[in-house]
Amino acid sequence: MFTLTQFPLPYSETALAPYISAETLNYHHGKHVATYIKNLNDLITGTKYADMPLIDIIKESDGTDQKIFNNAAQVYNHDFFFNCMRPADKKSTVPVKLADAFGGTDKLRDQFKAAALSVFGSGWAWIVRDGDEYKIITTANADTPIAHGMTPLFTIDVWEHAYYLDYQNRRAEFIDAVWDNLANWDFVAENMEL
Ligand code: MN
Repeated sequence: MFTLTQFPLPYSETALAPYISAETLNYHHGKHVATYIKNLNDLITGTKYADMPLIDIIKESDGTDQKIFNNAAQVYNHDFFFNCMRPADKKSTVPVKLADAFGGTDKLRDQFKAAALSVFGSGWAWIVRDGDEYKIITTANADTPIAHGMTPLFTIDVWEHAYYLDYQNRRAEFIDAVWDNLANWDFVAENMEL
C-alpha cells in the first residue's frame, strides 16, 4: 500500500527566525501538516485514490470528495509554501521577467500584499502562471491553483496558524517579513520554467 509520508522542511525549524519562529514551524509543519497527511492517508485507504500521486488525488477529488480534496490540497499547498522560503541570510532577487509583468518589483509586491490582506478568513495568496499570463490570485481554505489548471509560482499561507504565534492579528507584518526576508526567488524562477 502506497502511503503518503510527510515531506521534510527544506531547512531547520530555527532557520527562519526571527521572521518565523521555531515554535511556529514546529506547530505548522510538525502538527498542522502532519494532521493533513494522517487524515488524507486515513481517507484514501481502500479507495481509488490510494495509489495516486498527490496531484492526481487533488484533481480527481475536486468537486466530488471534499474531505479528500481539502487534505490533499493542504498537503500540496504547504509543501509548496515551505519551499517558497529560505533562510534570511540567503537572499535572492525577484526574477526580472516576473517583475516586468507587473510593472516592476514594487508594484508586484504591493499587488501581492493587497491580495494577501484581502483573504477573508483562511486561505492563500499566490503568484501563478495561467496560460501565457502571470497573475496574482487568492484561494479560500484549502483551494489550490493546481485544481484550476494554473501553475503556482509563489505563495504565502495566510491561515492564522501560519503567523498567530509570532504576529497575532498583524497579518500585514507577517506578509512583509516573508516577502522582504524569506522569499526564495530561485524557487520561483524554477517554477517559471515549468
Ligand atoms: Mn498552513
